Amino acid sequence: MNFELDDKYLAIQGRAREFARSIAHLAPEADSMSTVHTGILENLRESGLSRLMVPAAYGGEHEKLDPLAICLVREALMAQCCHADSLFAMQGIGSYTINIAGSVEQREHWLPKIASAECLPAFALTEPDAGSDLKRVTTEIATDGDGFCLNGDKSFISNAGAASYFIVFARDGSDYSMVLVSADAAGIRVVPTPEIIAPHVMGEVQFDNVRIPATARLGSKGDGMRLVLATLGVFRVSVAGAAVGLAQAALEEAVRHTRTREQFGRPMIRLGPVAQMLADCWTEIEMARLITYRAACMAGEDSVKSVNYSSMAKLGASEMASRVVDRCVQVMGRFGLVVGTKMERLYRQARPMRIYEGASEVLRLGIAKELADRVP
Ligand SMILES: Cc1cc2nc3c(=O)[nH]c(=O)nc-3n(C[C@H](O)[C@H](O)[C@H](O)COP(=O)(O)OP(=O)(O)OC[C@H]3O[C@@H](n4cnc5c(N)ncnc54)[C@H](O)[C@@H]3O)c2cc1C
Repeated sequence: MNFELDDKYLAIQGRAREFARSIAHLAPEADSMSTVHTGILENLRESGLSRLMVPAAYGGEHEKLDPLAICLVREALMAQCCHADSLFAMQGIGSYTINIAGSVEQREHWLPKIASAECLPAFALTEPDAGSDLKRVTTEIATDGDGFCLNGDKSFISNAGAASYFIVFARDGSDYSMVLVSADAAGIRVVPTPEIIAPHVMGEVQFDNVRIPATARLGSKGDGMRLVLATLGVFRVSVAGAAVGLAQAALEEAVRHTRTREQFGRPMIRLGPVAQMLADCWTEIEMARLITYRAACMAGEDSVKSVNYSSMAKLGASEMASRVVDRCVQVMGRFGLVVGTKMERLYRQARPMRIYEGASEVLRLGIAKELADRVP
């Protein structure tokens, strides 16, 4: 057993860190925007990192997607800029169903544009009355001549307004299917979502009698739920990578501050309770990083079989990031509360991670079910 990253992964990590450092000065502005920051997007294009989201046959870097590589990039990006992390993550989340269930034409048309970040995708599951419980979706496709007609409203959709296409989860008779809808189709309207505590590029998407060809369905009728689970199987663990990066960044800010600030005659990092909190943070980050890398390696082998490990990594790392950033604010005292500082941004950005791509309570249900089945 070897716990070190090999040369291939060290190179990816190095590239990602270099890119993240190069855009760090743009983060305060980008992380307060709910539209795409063009400077970050241009830099992302130049970095070539989106090539990790597409197989080599369509312009990608590796023969197939490598969840550990994706985790390492998200860890590096989230430590510097949440906006860049989100843009990068969506290139994969919004294209994976095309990769595994798209027709040759769909793959040839869209995947090279994803690899070059020439186009941005959106993955539309959530609705006003359907979040964790996806079976409540009411968006539907109905046969219309030789194609379909799509109707319904989607909520909190990342990249809405900037995306070139939407992957839409919809009712299909008594089944659920996924369809690929070009963003320029007539009948699509994007309206802003309410602003959230950590600004994010997203919107509400209304589909009003949108005509789509029969070829727009990804996979077969009834494949919708399977494709959602397959996508989460690969990308849920990458949220854990991002959470580890966020927590590490918070810890480093807190260490730099408490090393130089003196109270009661010594640097604060030498005060017992402060030292203990920082030691706990480091320990928890290392634990989360290990389970994240392990789950990512397992997802690279079989992302469906390993979904419980991805859930454990996402649950453990996102909960850890919230605890860590909270302690880091505490040890920085009033300096951790100043709006616009990195610590304040990290504090807000940690919060949504426990809700999207599987809320912690929902993940616990799945993990507990597997546990009950496993123990002899
Ligand atoms: C920044 C951000 C980006 C997003 N991007 C996208 C996107 O690109 N595409 C998309 O489709 N959606 C997106 N979402 C929406 C996200 O997927 C949903 O917020 C998530 O699925 C949870 O649904 P909900 O918010 O409706 O919460 P609800 O389903 O209403 O749940 C609320 C809370 O209830 C609890 N809960 C729910 N179910 C159970 C249960 N069975 N047992 C125990 N407790 C439970 C949990 O604590 C949960 O947090 C995004 C959200 C955010 C914050």
